Amino acid sequence: MNREGNTDRSEVFQPLWNLKLVPSALIHVWRVMLDRLSITINLVRRGVQLETYICPLCKKTNETIQHLFINCVVVWDACERWIGTAIIRHYSILSHYHHFCLPMLTKNGNHLWKIMWVTIVTKTWAHRNKVVFRNGIVDNVEIFSLAHIRR
Ligand SMILES: [Zn+2]
Repeated sequence: MNREGNTDRSEVFQPLWNLKLVPSALIHVWRVMLDRLSITINLVRRGVQLETYICPLCKKTNETIQHLFINCVVVWDACERWIGTAIIRHYSILSHYHHFCLPMLTKNGNHLWKIMWVTIVTKTWAHRNKVVFRNGIVDNVEIFSLAHIRR
């Protein structure tokens, strides 16, 4: 963390690349952290006219990286129920990932926990795209069923 209280990219990216995950998941999360997804607010910045700017999952506020991957109630309230504890919600996606750990877990346990974060973010994006582009139905259970670690 730097003097302004923000998480440095180097603190996040180096451990991210060490996670044992398929490259496509890591690249997706890297793009999320750099705010490079074609999310509503980024499309508007590029001059794309849209019918709505509202989050397609909760339909409560504008869709931004921070909203979808940190604050969207459809995603994170379900995640907290599943975990059984509240998650500290940082403003920055980098800080959210960097501090996504559980004190009772070992280093290896938290390594798996980071993998879970990456998986939830990746599957949230897949579910969001299903809702937006294929008239899918918002279903947080589906996000978590997609995020199950497979052997
Ligand atoms: Zn939302």
